[in-house]
Amino acid sequence: MRIPCPHCGPRDLREFTYKGAALMDRPTGDWSEAWDAYLHLRDNPAGRSEDLWYHGPCGTWVLVDRDTVNHAIHGARAAQ
Ligand SMILES: [Zn+2]
Repeated sequence: MRIPCPHCGPRDLREFTYKGAALMDRPTGDWSEAWDAYLHLRDNPAGRSEDLWYHGPCGTWVLVDRDTVNHAIHGARAAQ
């Protein structure tokens, strides 16, 4: 699989580190069941998903729109 880095262009998957789902609501306050779920429970969607990846060679965080079923990549942009 090749991931398009916004700065380097299409690069091999091995240059990236997967960091998880891009849009997760971070709980507020002290420890709670919501924090436990935030830290340990993940959805495993079949289909399109936006994930956060880190491109080590250039140090860029990349939001990747990909399909978890067929590994097609529909887009990528630098994370803010
Ligand atoms: Zn890069």
